[in-house]
Amino acid sequence: MSKVDLLVIGGGMAGMSAATWVAQHGGTAVVVEKGSAVGGSAAFAGYVWTAPTYTVLRAENPGGDPALARALVDDVQADVEWMESLGVACEAPIDKMRFGRGRHVDTTQYFGICSRLLRDAHGCEVLLDSTAERLLLDGPRVVGAEVHTPEGPRTIEAANTLLATGGYQGDDGLRAQHIHPEAPQMVLRSNPRSDGAGLRLGLEAGARFGKPNAGFYGHLIPLGIRYDEPTQFAMKSMYCSEHAVLVNTEGSRFADETLGDHLNTQAVLEQPGSRALMIADQRTYEQWCVTPFVVGAAPIDKFEIARASGGRIATAADLEEFEYLPPEWGYPGSKVRATIEAFNEACRNGGPEPTRRYDRAPLDQPPYYVVDVVPAITFTFGGLLIDDQARALDEAGHPIPGLLAAGADSGGVFVRAYAGGLANALVFGLRAARTACAAAA
Ligand SMILES: Cc1cc2nc3c(=O)[nH]c(=O)nc-3n(C[C@H](O)[C@H](O)[C@H](O)COP(=O)(O)OP(=O)(O)OC[C@H]3O[C@@H](n4cnc5c(N)ncnc54)[C@H](O)[C@@H]3O)c2cc1C
Repeated sequence: MSKVDLLVIGGGMAGMSAATWVAQHGGTAVVVEKGSAVGGSAAFAGYVWTAPTYTVLRAENPGGDPALARALVDDVQADVEWMESLGVACEAPIDKMRFGRGRHVDTTQYFGICSRLLRDAHGCEVLLDSTAERLLLDGPRVVGAEVHTPEGPRTIEAANTLLATGGYQGDDGLRAQHIHPEAPQMVLRSNPRSDGAGLRLGLEAGARFGKPNAGFYGHLIPLGIRYDEPTQFAMKSMYCSEHAVLVNTEGSRFADETLGDHLNTQAVLEQPGSRALMIADQRTYEQWCVTPFVVGAAPIDKFEIARASGGRIATAADLEEFEYLPPEWGYPGSKVRATIEAFNEACRNGGPEPTRRYDRAPLDQPPYYVVDVVPAITFTFGGLLIDDQARALDEAGHPIPGLLAAGADSGGVFVRAYAGGLANALVFGLRAARTACAAAA
């Protein structure tokens, strides 16, 4: 095969979107996908959402790159409409995660349509069960990759190469290096193949990692449960932690829980033993733990699911019962009781410390629902720094000719904050496609 316009490493949201756009605009694209099907983590996802305006996104994610924030907000609506124009079912917009807005899209249908379009387009291919071994360099320019396929090795030359392997959450060493020494202990809640291949290939070609200490996206789950079935990832996640109180193994609160379960997840990772007790009272339970996380979704009782999954959970008839927390749980019962009592008192008289931005009601309506929770990781925020055209940047901040990155392989979009992984992958996947098409033209 002669030189293609775009070589894509990783056939998930960013990669398949980029290749499909290139093919639809008359270009040639090859997708190299490690799995036996395309879709990646996006195959388990559905809501393409982000902040409704640049100002809101900057307020929620102040550490992110302003130019990338602008691109994300500016493009997302039109990019979902492009998906819709392909024939993908996209539902009406709804509110998401307190400040966001977005649409549910049928990702299974989307990847089916993209696959067919690529199969029928001249000069396009999707290579399954395949990986990129190394990038081809011509001086500083990336000119393709050596690819391992079931039929044997192949050299694919390309005007542009897009790294879109979905982050490094599947690699313990990279997690420890870039997130936290305890990060390798976290349970994985994503496709299992995103192990930093894109990051390694990009760094070898001179790209720069960033931003430091950007964190990750994930959710709290009950300690000790079985968590290996992607269709159950959401069901077993304790999203309602953002309305409960979290107490560490020293018996202390440590975060503003109300900012979001995904941020609580990062905070719990950094606590002693990387775990915490999530405590809800009857009000919290009824308002938040048995109601749907997303408007329109089916209601589920998170405590019942935790119990049925073998999680460490308990109910307490009143605050005194916290004195009798089983010692083997490893939490100081008296201190936990005192912490909740002090929290309640502070809620009635000025506000607790750490503060609560969104829900300052005391936990004073027994019984209490208690779950031992641990962090689980969906994808990483740090990655290959890009500009707003999805071009990978070198140490000096200049684009590396021929090298693009998007989705969870890119860095700079989110820094210890989150506003939509699918939107990020879609927008910068399509920006990468436009960069490749502009180069071809
Ligand atoms: C259960 C679940 C629910 C989610 N729900 C939502 C949601 O509703 N809304 C939202 O915004 N986000 C959601 N997300 C996050 C979202 O799925 C990701 O942010 C998004 O898929 C990232 O896109 P990506 O293209 O970077 O990675 P992915 O979509 O994961 O694709 C990466 C691809 O690269 C492939 N790959 C890895 N290594 C190699 C290699 N060496 N060579 C070739 N291929 C490789 C992988 O197999 C995979 O197919 C959810 C995630 C999960 C797990």
